[in-house]
Amino acid sequence: MSHSKALLVLENFIAGKFVPCSSYIDSYNPSTGDVYCRVPDSGKEEVEAAVKAAKTAFPIWSSKSPLERSQILNKLADLIEHDLEAFAQAESKDQGKTITFARTVDIPRAVYNFRFFASSILHHTTECTEMATVGCVHYTSRAPVGVAGLISPWNLPLYLLTWKIAPAIACGNTVVAKPSEMTSVTAWLMCKLLEKAGVPHGVVNVVFGTGAKAGEALVCHPDVPLISFTGSTLTAQRITEKSAPHCKRLSLELGGKNPAIIFDDADLSQCIPTTLRSSFANQGEICLCTSRIFVQRGIYREFLKRFVSEAKKWKVGNPSDPTVDMGALISKEHLEKVRSYVKKAQAEGARVLCGEGVDSLALPNGNQKGYFMLPTVIAEVKDESCCMQEEIFGPVTCVVAFDTEEEVIERANSVKYGLAATVWSSNVGRVHRVAQRLQSGLVWTNCWLIRDLNLPFGGMKASGIGREGAKDSYEFFTEVKTITIKH
Ligand code: NAD
Repeated sequence: MSHSKALLVLENFIAGKFVPCSSYIDSYNPSTGDVYCRVPDSGKEEVEAAVKAAKTAFPIWSSKSPLERSQILNKLADLIEHDLEAFAQAESKDQGKTITFARTVDIPRAVYNFRFFASSILHHTTECTEMATVGCVHYTSRAPVGVAGLISPWNLPLYLLTWKIAPAIACGNTVVAKPSEMTSVTAWLMCKLLEKAGVPHGVVNVVFGTGAKAGEALVCHPDVPLISFTGSTLTAQRITEKSAPHCKRLSLELGGKNPAIIFDDADLSQCIPTTLRSSFANQGEICLCTSRIFVQRGIYREFLKRFVSEAKKWKVGNPSDPTVDMGALISKEHLEKVRSYVKKAQAEGARVLCGEGVDSLALPNGNQKGYFMLPTVIAEVKDESCCMQEEIFGPVTCVVAFDTEEEVIERANSVKYGLAATVWSSNVGRVHRVAQRLQSGLVWTNCWLIRDLNLPFGGMKASGIGREGAKDSYEFFTEVKTITIKH
């Protein structure tokens, strides 16, 4: 394929320098369908160089005080914030998400990730116990582990990558990060700010490329003792297998099939707009998005009518238009996959109430070849249907009726995933009861996506292993030792 000179060409960032690669992958603008960027197609050689740089930088970085590291993280946060608009524009163009979402969610959160861990690293304490009868005190000490391998997905590119880089380097590790080959631009932009922020060469290395080549080289590298991965359950299985011979420490943040449970005493004026967001925000491409909505029978019809009528109002189109609610999906292949679920549901006898195949989508001239689809609501889907069991990861949500609390808990738990759930009810006792029994790492009641980064984030069952958060990330990115002193 021939490329015009205007293409953006990314380079790996190794040992504080941008380094060209011998081969490149095309990266598409999802809202136009055009190739606009070339991403290094790194492999073993590039990963080797990055790991070497990270290893070299480790002794000095790990011996800095938490306060010194904290100041550097804060400086980096300030620099990203200063360029917030440029980062937001780049994220929207690269990923297809709306500029509004990138401006208000992705980039502010990337900034906050650095600020949060710059602060939290100053406040950890270790344990100490005394055994007076034998004249001993015991205490724990924590130290950074070494070179951390960080692998992130395409849905919230800089947000999720910095959610790993920030705690890893705050704890004194050095890192080799590999963003998704489909969304690499904001990680590359961040690399341009590292030196100015005072991050020493080799502390943060970024290697771009595919999962099969660059990702796997990182996972298999013997000098990378820990891998923090966010992505699909299938890839996590592969990473687990590949890292097993090295007994690596793994943190796995994976997919979801998240239920919303709406009881008949829910405040629908709050519930409907929030459930629309939880279903369709970021084109439904958030691991925490709702895709199974269980509504108690008494309000089922009313809910469905109001929900569908509001979903139809969502404006889909050019992501750089600030009045647009939903942008483009990440790729042509992903769009086809998401659409295929709607077709399967129809073939099974479910009813598509709005969106794909039902309503027509009018796109601006420049976006005709983009990967767009409308928010889609499906009703009368069987619990066994693939649409109710598998992660679709697009703007498709299924609405079904239920009768009792006991029944809905069982049905909500009847999938392989266990990441997030929402519960809507004004009965406080019920909210607690249901939240306790849901197999889900996160339960939001009468709200969605309100996060306190101090607390654990992560999933059960096929949604992951381990948790991330102030204490959890600190524990993951440090090695603990128990020391006994006899006097
Ligand atoms: P993916 O698993 O295809 O890719 C994720 C990352 O892993 C990419 O950087 C990819 O290049 C890399 N990769 C792929 N194969 C690899 C291999 N063999 N070895 C090493 N690395 C490899 O996932 P995706 O399609 O980019 O992202 C969507 C998925 O991520 C969804 O399942 C979504 O639910 C999940 N996700 C989970 C969370 C969470 O916090 N739990 C957050 C966001 C997204």
